[in-house]
Amino acid sequence: MRWKEQLLSLTPYQPGKSIEAVKKQFNLEKIVKLASNENPFGCSESAQTALQSNQTSFAIYPDGYATNLREKLASFLQVEEQELILGNGSDNLIQIISRALLHPNASTVMADPTFSQYKHNAVIEGAIIKEIPLVNGEHDLDSMLAAIDDQTNVVWVCSPNNPTGKYIPENKLVPFLEKVPSHILVVLDEAYYEYVVADDYYDSIKLTRKFNNLIVLRTFSKIYGLAALRIGYGVANPAIIKALEPAREPFNVNSLGQLAASAAIDDQQFVKECREKNRQGLAQFYEFCEQHHLEYYPTQTNFILIDFKVDGDKVFQYLQERGYIVRSGKPLGFPTSIRITVGSREQNEGVLKVLSEFLGAN
Ligand SMILES: *Cc1c(COP(=O)(O)O)cnc(C)c1O
Repeated sequence: MRWKEQLLSLTPYQPGKSIEAVKKQFNLEKIVKLASNENPFGCSESAQTALQSNQTSFAIYPDGYATNLREKLASFLQVEEQELILGNGSDNLIQIISRALLHPNASTVMADPTFSQYKHNAVIEGAIIKEIPLVNGEHDLDSMLAAIDDQTNVVWVCSPNNPTGKYIPENKLVPFLEKVPSHILVVLDEAYYEYVVADDYYDSIKLTRKFNNLIVLRTFSKIYGLAALRIGYGVANPAIIKALEPAREPFNVNSLGQLAASAAIDDQQFVKECREKNRQGLAQFYEFCEQHHLEYYPTQTNFILIDFKVDGDKVFQYLQERGYIVRSGKPLGFPTSIRITVGSREQNEGVLKVLSEFLGAN
């Protein structure tokens, strides 16, 4: 077969290891997974109740317009329904955007390291990829601007960034947006938006009104705790949404996802509590790092990247054998670090205890 040549160089996304696989391999009773930035507190009870009292038939296709969820989101975000696009996770929106704008004669600019799916999709479309190294874990916006050329169609900005957790303050983002030519789409991935507590974070939804070439991506997979149901959304000027819609599959957001997300929006108390508990959990990690003189990036997310100054795979292995799944920094571009999702207080205590043992033994 004559596969697209670029496909041959790609491997499928390597997700955090599954709990069952690790249980079996190491014959462990209990596994704690702190690898994929999932919410350790699950989802809102209102989402659960909505799912349990589901009335929609599984024989019927989902609502392709996601009418109910769209109305809810529009009212919650104070935007028009035509300013929204729904995705099967924000991963799906990254794919739709790439499909709509990238091709072998187009270039695309992104940070490095950042979320892997921007590059992955750009490679599939055969686009020219310009990766701009992070500086201190942050986007180097000036160098990203300098990398824009006549062929550039999409610029990816991840704030807070995965895997460093660092965000872009308003006084850096706005001047950047002012300088990006208006025919280039800027994708602002805010998968961790609800976790942010920094005062100088921008109001991205407002910015979509000022910058007609900006699309904001958010998700129900992280703080809302609905990763399994795959719901993400994009907010942008109606002209952008209209142009992207034909590249979206007709029934990309499933019925249960629509139902659960609609209910989850109503429970902002849950979101607030998770955000607060996350900050408390992060304090446990910060204290540990200070105590052991480990370098880390202060984070606005529910994960932390810690540098152990040894092969990250080694730390990963040590934890895995003792029942904790985290991400090695190696495939994420930080070879001597690990990325840990902030868990419940007990989970954090547990993983930090094992990490202390690791440090004692090494
Ligand atoms: C987790 C994550 C996503 C993907 O989220 P889904 O909505 O589950 O597809 C997108 N971007 C970043 C930066 C993420 O960390």
